[in-house]
Amino acid sequence: MRFDVLVLGGGIVGTSLALDLALRGRTVALIDRGRPGAETSFGNAGLIQSEAVMPYAFPRDPLLLLQYALNLKPEAHYHIKDLFKIAPFMARYFMASNRAGQLKTAAANAPIFGACLAEHRRLAREAGVEAMLRPGGWLKVFRKEESLRKVLEDTRRDLEPFGVEYAVLDKPALQAMEPSLSDVVVGGIHWTTPYSLNDPEALTLAYARRFEALGGRFLSGNAMSLAEERDGWSVKTETGPVSARDCVVALGPWAPDLLRPMGYKVPMGVKRGYHVHMRPKGNAALGLPVLDADVGYMLVPMARGIRLTSGAEFAHRDSPATPRQIDMIEPYAREIMPLEGRVEAQPWKGARPCMPDMLPVMGKAPRHKGLWLNFGHAHHGLTLAGSAARLLGEMITGEAPYTDPAPYSLARFN
Ligand SMILES: Cc1cc2nc3c(=O)[nH]c(=O)nc-3n(C[C@H](O)[C@H](O)[C@H](O)COP(=O)(O)OP(=O)(O)OC[C@H]3O[C@@H](n4cnc5c(N)ncnc54)[C@H](O)[C@@H]3O)c2cc1C
Repeated sequence: MRFDVLVLGGGIVGTSLALDLALRGRTVALIDRGRPGAETSFGNAGLIQSEAVMPYAFPRDPLLLLQYALNLKPEAHYHIKDLFKIAPFMARYFMASNRAGQLKTAAANAPIFGACLAEHRRLAREAGVEAMLRPGGWLKVFRKEESLRKVLEDTRRDLEPFGVEYAVLDKPALQAMEPSLSDVVVGGIHWTTPYSLNDPEALTLAYARRFEALGGRFLSGNAMSLAEERDGWSVKTETGPVSARDCVVALGPWAPDLLRPMGYKVPMGVKRGYHVHMRPKGNAALGLPVLDADVGYMLVPMARGIRLTSGAEFAHRDSPATPRQIDMIEPYAREIMPLEGRVEAQPWKGARPCMPDMLPVMGKAPRHKGLWLNFGHAHHGLTLAGSAARLLGEMITGEAPYTDPAPYSLARFN
């Protein structure tokens, strides 16, 4: 079977691009070894974070670093036995997290975060599911006045120049907005413009359905069978071999497995994360997602309950799950709002695909004709899926890209 484009990886990033290309009139095969949206894109916090222009930097405060080194804080955890494997990524991440590095990443982030709401709106409207995009933003709440003050200073300095909109809420305003929040919360920041979802998997599946309705094919196959041919690329699928002139690698945390044997340096690390759903007690409820900022985890109202999502776990992608952070945050979540028991016996685990400079890899592969890259969206793969789809869609079809793709090129590591 011959197509215009093969997209490898049916997470939110690959599926959004497949839909975008189908809307541009291209014939596309979307290839995954499993179902669309069943891996990292399944279990995230569901935020489409237009405000998140500043990258999550590696901390530099010595006391905090010591606490992290001793695995004492719920927001970060690491596997000591994986230290040797993850050290090169951690070292590069640390180096890129100085002030100059953060500002460089923020400048490159601005156009893609600036486009994220409109691009998801476009795709969701096409898929007939615009109502899945819950407006109203999200809340960053604080237990200590001092932390709120500090984050507000950073917000004024770092985010106002990018036009990020927010409101500061004192305790009564916060409780008026979210009556189930308890007294431990002293105030918060309301990011007013982002969207959130109550089922991230459902959005990917809706984009996949629309893609297929436009004539796109979703096929089961192993991306590792990718072969370069005289006039493009081919992959073996359960339906038979498929080929195309262009091929996009959208394999999220698995992208390096394919690209390293092709001779590319892909210094990706993963920040693993967990979620579990909790049943709210009585008629307790949340209207918007809430970040318990002094502890470092989120509570998100979702279809299956209040989703608690953990911070970062630094470990090898394939090491066994250690959902310690979920056990650590659950008592804090119970302080914030009335909760019953867990919905699932075992927490879900995913791996955020992170480049050391916290910028995604998007654009042409430096040394292979017709090979395109779209991965490494770190904490913001859901947020950026639509912006990335438009950028790659424009580049692959030869249109002028809406922003200069140079900062996202894999050439920066090669
Ligand atoms: C706890 C947590 C909370 C998060 N919260 C948010 C949030 O609120 N907002 C946000 O924007 N982002 C969030 N993220 C990040 C976001 O989930 C990821 O950046 C995003 O899901 C990455 O999408 P992807 O399509 O690149 O990867 P994936 O969803 O992992 O998709 C990759 C696909 O490739 C397929 N694949 C892999 N290997 C092969 C192979 N050999 N052959 C065929 N197919 C293959 C997989 O089956 C998979 O479907 C969060 C992440 C975590 C872990």
